Amino acid sequence: MIEQKYDVIVVGGGPAGLSAAIRAVETGLKTLLLENREMLGGIPLQCVHTGFGIHCFKEDLTGGEFITRLIDRAAEIGLENMVKTHVLRVQVDSASEKTVYAASPRGLLKTKAKAMIYAVGARERHQYEVGLTGDRPDGVYTAGEAQALMDIYGVLPGRRIVILGSGDVGLIMARRLALEKAEVKAVVEVLPYPGGLTRNIVQCLNDFNIPLYLGHMVREVRGSGRVEKVIVARVDGDMKPVEGSEFELECDTLIVSAGLKPDVDILEKMGVEIDPATRGPVVNEFYETSLPLVFAVGNALVVNDLVDYGVEQGEAAANYASKLLEYYATQRLKWRRVDRGRNVRFMVPQLVSGAMDVLFYGRVQHPEDNVRLLIRETGFEKRFSKVKPAEMIRIRIPAEELVKAKGERLTFEVVG
Ligand SMILES: Cc1cc2nc3c(=O)[nH]c(=O)nc-3n(C[C@H](O)[C@H](O)[C@H](O)COP(=O)(O)OP(=O)(O)OC[C@H]3O[C@@H](n4cnc5c(N)ncnc54)[C@H](O)[C@@H]3O)c2cc1C
Repeated sequence: MIEQKYDVIVVGGGPAGLSAAIRAVETGLKTLLLENREMLGGIPLQCVHTGFGIHCFKEDLTGGEFITRLIDRAAEIGLENMVKTHVLRVQVDSASEKTVYAASPRGLLKTKAKAMIYAVGARERHQYEVGLTGDRPDGVYTAGEAQALMDIYGVLPGRRIVILGSGDVGLIMARRLALEKAEVKAVVEVLPYPGGLTRNIVQCLNDFNIPLYLGHMVREVRGSGRVEKVIVARVDGDMKPVEGSEFELECDTLIVSAGLKPDVDILEKMGVEIDPATRGPVVNEFYETSLPLVFAVGNALVVNDLVDYGVEQGEAAANYASKLLEYYATQRLKWRRVDRGRNVRFMVPQLVSGAMDVLFYGRVQHPEDNVRLLIRETGFEKRFSKVKPAEMIRIRIPAEELVKAKGERLTFEVVG
């Protein structure tokens, strides 16, 4: 067993973890980054399309170009990292001591750190989680599996494709497959509106004449050996299939793109409080979870629309980690809890002190036009001409607004 000691251990070497680790080194913290795949980079490694880094680098980069910049920077500053190293569990010994256990090519690794930044990304929902019935043939993939097959291993997952789910990942996969000359028969979405950004509806479906069935579900998969067809049905207001509305789409592949959820396995075992709205951990304005000096960022915190948000969360957590390591020696803050009011699906962070301006990330439950995001207890409001579940609200609220609340709650609501 290998034993070492650090100020910060970052778990997960995708964009959020890499940015956190780079910033931690830049602020002078002894840092170790652990990544379970063969190389650093996370999801962007398998994304050959552009759309990455628009905020961070003010350029429209492919996933590969984007992540190479972070990997190069990590090499430049000599970031200590281990790949093929899967973090198994983390033990909290005290507020400022954690023991991280990981399986590595060199054996079982046991490292100690004062702080941990958790950045393991999100997990895809698979076919068994979306209620698919019928046969169990080959040819059913999650979007991530299909993307890795194509863009890492150079294998086309199929020729005639149906995609379940119209989030950005499903839309981008539709275009990617169409560009490879696969016949994308349809994207099927159970909600009455698309799950992804408008730009992706236009660029990924409309530009390739790919039909989008809103308010429909894939009811059954049929095929012996390989997928032969799927049965699609219209759904009613309760998301139940309307009898008699079924039709068949012949295909050899079904790609399930039914959303992501933060991968919180390790945090849950540590006893971290989880927010049922985000399915990620509850964090304060420092991205610190309910355990002192255990931070969560990127898609492990909340499923972000853009990679840039994960990067800013990673950098911020590393900055705060360096400050809190000294600060906690002397005091504790009091927190106001963020509540969800009308048409607010979630808001992150969930705890704020009022001592500093806070950047909030949130989503609405349903689309609306000409609305205000309001904090009920303070009267703070911001107007939006449109809000959609697919588009994250990202808003910085000054400290002087947050301290106006008399009690311990701040209720965010979207009103007309
Ligand atoms: C198909 C697709 C298209 C996308 N297109 C865009 C786009 O156009 N523009 C854009 O801005 N964003 C896009 N995104 C989103 C972007 O990729 C994510 O926001 C970003 O990758 C999240 O970064 P992350 O570091 O939080 O997670 P990830 O990129 O998932 O990285 C997490 C890392 O943690 C590692 N890990 C997991 N568990 C462990 C463990 N136990 N021990 C050690 N390491 C572990 C994983 O191997 C992985 O490398 C797209 C995503 C997908 C799936």
